[in-house]
Amino acid sequence: MNPTFTLLIVDDEKQNRALLTELLQEDYRIILAKDGRQALDRAREHNPDLILLDVLMPEMDGYTVIRELKNDDRTRNIPVIFITALDSAGDEERGLELGAVDYISKPFTPAIVRVRIRNHLQSVHQRRLLEQMAMLDSLTGIPNRRRFNEVLEQEWRRCMRDNAPLSLIVVDVDHFKSFNDCNGHAAGDEVLRRIASTLLASVRRPGDFVARYGGEEFVMLLPGIDSEGAHLLAEHTRADIEAEQIPHPTSDASPWITISLGGATRIPQECAPVAELFCLADTWLYKAKYSGRNRVAWAPDSASPA
Ligand SMILES: [Mg+2]
Repeated sequence: MNPTFTLLIVDDEKQNRALLTELLQEDYRIILAKDGRQALDRAREHNPDLILLDVLMPEMDGYTVIRELKNDDRTRNIPVIFITALDSAGDEERGLELGAVDYISKPFTPAIVRVRIRNHLQSVHQRRLLEQMAMLDSLTGIPNRRRFNEVLEQEWRRCMRDNAPLSLIVVDVDHFKSFNDCNGHAAGDEVLRRIASTLLASVRRPGDFVARYGGEEFVMLLPGIDSEGAHLLAEHTRADIEAEQIPHPTSDASPWITISLGGATRIPQECAPVAELFCLADTWLYKAKYSGRNRVAWAPDSASPA
């Protein structure tokens, strides 16, 4: 079990907090709160993996706390287990209906509390793995289009705040369909994997991002790089792919597998939607294709029409 899980224990009685801490501190990082208000603050601040929540507390009871947790995007997905002296079926039902994942009655059996917590954290762990997998392209292992859209939004906003340029390169494999027709899809898949790893190797800064957009199309997102630097990187990447000399006899662009690249750089503005950057880079990819493939075409820096 991952020992870095963080638990938030909420109980108004010091003795209960001490008991649960004693029981769990070997396996988890423990954060304590002694009332509802403090629980909400600490949940928002520490983003714990699980919350153990007492029901009976003065001022704000556990039912109110869980309602507030579920109303806040920052805390909505944190699983909550009620631990309480209330033990009627009605209390339990109410707790579960409010979104608690489990309900443990006091006095509790320590070993059982431990196992239940471990089981819930196991499913937290599995859910996160699935979420991560849903963001990766299964063929190449690099981020997929869905993840790219998220990162593009984030970087667009970040570069807007910093008044920094954001460069985007759209990459397409030349005559890929005819390659597949001649060599089979397994060979085509291998080409896509090699291209993914070459694109990854061509970016060096931690903020640079490469994804498979779909089919034989890839994207490279370069925050804080102006058009000159990004254009140069695109040109190097194009040369790197061709230098791998993967034979492509039916291509009219080269004897080898090659790529076409379209790029654009903008300093994000409030008035311009992020989608425009993609459209622009994609338009210039089309120009690269149209003028012979195996080349880079770059949108002018000004907002002149493409
Ligand atoms: Mg209490």
